[in-house]
Amino acid sequence: MKKINKVGVIGAGTMGAGIAGQVANAGIEVWLLDLPSDNESVNSLAERGLERLKDPDMPGIMSKESEQLIKLGNTRDDFDELIDCDWIAEAVVERLDIKQALYKKLNDCCKESTIITSNTSTIPISLLTDGMPQDFCERFAITHFFNPVRFMRLLELVRGEHTRQDVVDTLDVFCETMLGKGVVPCSDTPGFLANRVGVFAIQCALHKAFEYKLSPIEADAFFGRPLGLPKTGVFGLYDLIGIDLMADVAKSLENILPENDAFHMYAAPIEFVSKMISSGQTGNKNDQGFYKQIGDDKMVIDLSSGNYVEHERLKTPLLDAAEKNGVNAIIRDETKYGLFIWDVLSETLCYAASLVPEVTEDLVQIDDAMKLGYNWVKGPFELIDEIGIDYFVSRLKKSSKNVPEFLERSTNKKFYNSSNSTLSALTLSGELRPIIRPNGVLRFSEVRQTLAPVNSNESASWFEYEGTAIVEFHSKANALDSLSLDMISDAVTTSEKKGLRGVIVHNDFQHFSCGVSLWSVRNCFEKNDFDGLDAFLAYFQNTMLQMRDSKLPIVVAPVGMSIGGGFEVVLHADHVVSHANSVMGLVESFVGVVPAGGGCKETLYRWTEKLGDSKKGAWKSFMNIGLGRKANSPQEADALAMRRPGDVFQMNRDRILNTALSSIDNTKKIGQREPLALSGAEHFHEMLEWLETNHKKGMLTPHDVTVGTEIGRVVSGGDCPAGTVFSEQEILDAERSSFLRLAQTQETQARIVSMLDNGITLRN
Ligand code: NAD
Repeated sequence: MKKINKVGVIGAGTMGAGIAGQVANAGIEVWLLDLPSDNESVNSLAERGLERLKDPDMPGIMSKESEQLIKLGNTRDDFDELIDCDWIAEAVVERLDIKQALYKKLNDCCKESTIITSNTSTIPISLLTDGMPQDFCERFAITHFFNPVRFMRLLELVRGEHTRQDVVDTLDVFCETMLGKGVVPCSDTPGFLANRVGVFAIQCALHKAFEYKLSPIEADAFFGRPLGLPKTGVFGLYDLIGIDLMADVAKSLENILPENDAFHMYAAPIEFVSKMISSGQTGNKNDQGFYKQIGDDKMVIDLSSGNYVEHERLKTPLLDAAEKNGVNAIIRDETKYGLFIWDVLSETLCYAASLVPEVTEDLVQIDDAMKLGYNWVKGPFELIDEIGIDYFVSRLKKSSKNVPEFLERSTNKKFYNSSNSTLSALTLSGELRPIIRPNGVLRFSEVRQTLAPVNSNESASWFEYEGTAIVEFHSKANALDSLSLDMISDAVTTSEKKGLRGVIVHNDFQHFSCGVSLWSVRNCFEKNDFDGLDAFLAYFQNTMLQMRDSKLPIVVAPVGMSIGGGFEVVLHADHVVSHANSVMGLVESFVGVVPAGGGCKETLYRWTEKLGDSKKGAWKSFMNIGLGRKANSPQEADALAMRRPGDVFQMNRDRILNTALSSIDNTKKIGQREPLALSGAEHFHEMLEWLETNHKKGMLTPHDVTVGTEIGRVVSGGDCPAGTVFSEQEILDAERSSFLRLAQTQETQARIVSMLDNGITLRN
């Protein structure tokens, strides 16, 4: 297999810049070329591409080092830089003539071994390579990335009739290990897999929402989280992608799909939506679409009048039932909500099933494409399993809907089965075939289906796998409550007794954990039960110390967000194996409290170690906790003293569990913290002055000052003389006291209520 040392990307738009960014994140030199500009700088188009990668809300590059690996140029002056590239990814506009002209130029100049791929969404390989020599066709493929490239996990890899196997293998391995993608092989059919099903699903949901006269809030409340789909739902997703862009995507799919394809039922533009596009209401990029933010107020469009009205969260018992019983609770409901979801889901799942076998013979590829490309928690076939094939098929028949042949012949079966520790999927011939992932790829969402938990409750479970305990959080947003802590504690105690190798805390959901359950905190202050709150915090702290002080190695393997209390779990691990896109940080100040699960304490120790001085360490801790600083990459986490030397990361999140398992036997215990001499009263007063100055400048609200005061008190030791020695437990006690003082203020309580009821950070 070929090694890829240098990459060229042509086209520095949304996708090209994103691909170049991810190649650089993998530590590989990449040339990013666009057309030359007459004005300003000749490379201004490529420069703009790089600028977009630095967007702080969605950073496409992980570090300054990555940025330096991106060389900018233009296709007139810098084409020669492509000569010795091992892989060139073309990502120019979707125009066949422009793409073909580029391939001719590339064929003339590049070395014979260079692999060339297109990022096209709609043009078949046979057309792209029409008229090109055989040798070119052999090293040509489609690598279809998703936007934003760094964060979307899916890569659809499409080979042409002539593409060589070694070319496919090289791209597969490079994109999977180095770029961190879940590579799904696809045949060269319109829309490949993810967009074929995904665009069908959202077009169908949009049309049906209008048909059932549902508001965007109603449609998104059901066609989202309750089905395991992203919370943007359908209208929110249109706003995110761009309502005009979605109209173009639907149009282009309409043009390339065969006449008898079911997509045509939902391809037509909706008059109301077309009017929105013409009046510039195209979604988030124009600050107005189906939703609109006006100051602190979220508004939503009224689909009958076209006016924006106040957004109010939908509350119905059906949503609560769906939270407990998932999709089955909704589709069995006979109100307009249940009927809407049944209609959309049955059409979409049938459409996915109808792609077997013409588009793919492997249902796992369809499920993977939807999970990795559209962030569905379950793929279409997993959803049908959850509903039950027999119920699904009989209800389709009752409503005189067509039943795809693959579904019909699968009745009385399940698409996925686990036995003898193996997860298998149903094949076309009705047999079960084990799902085989690349070496080193291990998804806990799949492993757990082959295991029975050793212990489990509503919020978490733990399993024994390869002689190791694996703790999985599974509450809503993986918020931590005393039940989650029970599982960590039980896994540690029982594993010690059983002589297991160690404990891994990991899960394969979108986020590792978004912190302590604010509902538990609210519950305490609404009942005035501050003793109960203190007991919970003490339990949290003790569980963190139990992990750290256990004789067994404790490895934490976070994906997505590990913030607040979630990050405090990470901070108490002996070793951390994270995903390159993990977001970490202590963000408690936004809801008016201080980290009190050992977060202030660990931050203070780590900064003090890093800077060799507890005064400097206290100041850094005060600033970073106060501002709720988050790290978006391992490099940023290093700069914020959030990782220890020896902690590792993986570009592919599907590789972190296997890495954690392999590292457990070599993990050394961190050991207890020595007492620390704190910086004391004078330093604390410097912090108070800083808060006052920034309050006067209008940077901090009055309650920010109160919260900042408590953070300063914990990390400096408060009103004690400089150099007063605090034990680890005394610092933990200070954290808890500060948390409790703040939780008793009306302002903190208002922040927590605002976050829970409206998802808004209150700046009071
Ligand atoms: P874009 O419009 O953002 O960028 C295209 C870039 O190509 C522009 O910067 C343009 O100046 C440049 N360009 C045009 N002609 C060129 C030439 N001859 N030489 C060099 N550069 C040239 O487009 P995009 O959204 O990044 O899409 C690029 C490709 O990726 C298309 O084939 C598209 O179908 C595909 N795609 C897009 C998405 C998406 O979400 N945007 C997703 C998957 C695939």
